[in-house]
Amino acid sequence: KRKRGEEQISDLVKQVEELDLKASLKNFSDLPLSEPTASGLSASHYKTLTDIQARAISHGLKGRDILGAAKTGSGKTLAFLVPVIENLYRKKWTELDGLGALILSPTRELAIQIFEQLRKVGRNHHFSAGLIIGGKSLREEQDRMGRMNILVCTPGRMLQHLDQTAMFETNNLQMLVLDEADRILDMGFQKTVDAIIDHLPKQRQTMLFSATQTKKVGDLARLSLQEPEYVSVHESA
Ligand code: ADP
Ligand code: MG
Repeated sequence: KRKRGEEQISDLVKQVEELDLKASLKNFSDLPLSEPTASGLSASHYKTLTDIQARAISHGLKGRDILGAAKTGSGKTLAFLVPVIENLYRKKWTELDGLGALILSPTRELAIQIFEQLRKVGRNHHFSAGLIIGGKSLREEQDRMGRMNILVCTPGRMLQHLDQTAMFETNNLQMLVLDEADRILDMGFQKTVDAIIDHLPKQRQTMLFSATQTKKVGDLARLSLQEPEYVSVHESA
């Protein structure tokens, strides 16, 4: 018999609590994921977890801060998108709850790629998601921002909105993702990211992903993460 939605969510909450962080995981189906996410992943032909996904997603689902390092092409995007979607789903996030997750990406091109993956794997969810990368008038973006649950943004544009968009609220934010943090810093966005973080609630989950672990990334991690889980995947020889 099909369980009612409420009951399914409380089952899922329990499964995530009981999830063994040491268990070795092979497939997305080994994780306690909602039906809309599981079906979105399989419709996108994602079945086997990459190494970084197998090691990071469980911590992400449990609300832990993460410092994740793995080379380009290793699947870092889903390592944070799956927890972002699932954690909002288990909190029964709706349009009325406002912005739940903010994902920062160094370039427009990378932000677009994240947004496309979010649209694919999140296709069976009802969250509103926006891409804020400039190129449109600030005004046009401002009108949409207040209604978004998940935003994918470049740092400069995000700070512009935080400073100038009066109705844009971040009080309820649950999760911050700093993707490709090494590139964000290489591109000179250190101060911009610091200023964005100043606008956000201190109580939140932060997931920082990077292709390389540089000193600057370490500094940003110290500033933005609380007791993070370090997940670093090295290439085997
Ligand atoms: P990174 O951010 O680490 O550079 P991406 O998240 O952009 O890597 O993923 C690289 C490519 O691998 C993308 O085309 C993505 O669709 C694909 N990919 C990611 N995870 C999986 C997976 N579990 N199974 C198959 N392909 C995957
Ligand atoms: Mg990436």
